[in-house]
Amino acid sequence: MSRGAQLNVDGTVIDLDVRRSPRARRIQLKVDPRLGAQLIIPRGVSQREALSFAAEKAVWLRDRLARLPPRIPFRDGAIVPVLGQSHRIRQTTATDLFQTEVRREAGELLAACHPDDVSVRVGEWFRDNAYDILARRATAAADRIGAEVTRVSVRDPRTRWGSCSESGTLSFSWRLFMAPEWVMDYVVAHEVAHLREMNHSQAFWRLVGHLVDRIDDARSWLHRSGPHLHRYG
Ligand SMILES: [Zn+2]
Repeated sequence: MSRGAQLNVDGTVIDLDVRRSPRARRIQLKVDPRLGAQLIIPRGVSQREALSFAAEKAVWLRDRLARLPPRIPFRDGAIVPVLGQSHRIRQTTATDLFQTEVRREAGELLAACHPDDVSVRVGEWFRDNAYDILARRATAAADRIGAEVTRVSVRDPRTRWGSCSESGTLSFSWRLFMAPEWVMDYVVAHEVAHLREMNHSQAFWRLVGHLVDRIDDARSWLHRSGPHLHRYG
């Protein structure tokens, strides 16, 4: 559950995303590239107490927020990564009023649609293509280790890149389609390996290693650059 609150620092209004977490041990203030300022309240602490804690740190918060890299909406002229390579979004005239499409061509994402629709269409293009490639690669990887994928879904979770359920459903962030291919493949291998080993044991990591190289590189890429993928769209 999350609610909004506001802090005022010398006339600058800071929007706070306020949420309660039964797992949190103390009041936490975070700055997230996508959600902005977040206040996390543990059990047994009142909202008022947490807000006064945040108010004490308001100057720090304002400075951190000011240093966040800017958001990059999907619109004409924006540079966005596709499998780790920069592409420029270019809005073109739809040839047929009822037929809009997005095409990837020579370093561009050509969006043949009304200018107002670019954001929605490009977003759909990313999700559709992410689903196709992730589903194909997950199925192929599962074949290699004798596992079976029941279903693949793409979502937009805040912090996780993928997950695997007991029933064999794999879920991935569509933003992985923006990451370099070897990073995306590592996340696929990780979740596919969970189909056989629902833990992070040595046996699990051996399976991942059987599927991909550069595990450490991929993990540090996600740690370092992953949050930036949330700036797009
Ligand atoms: Zn895992």
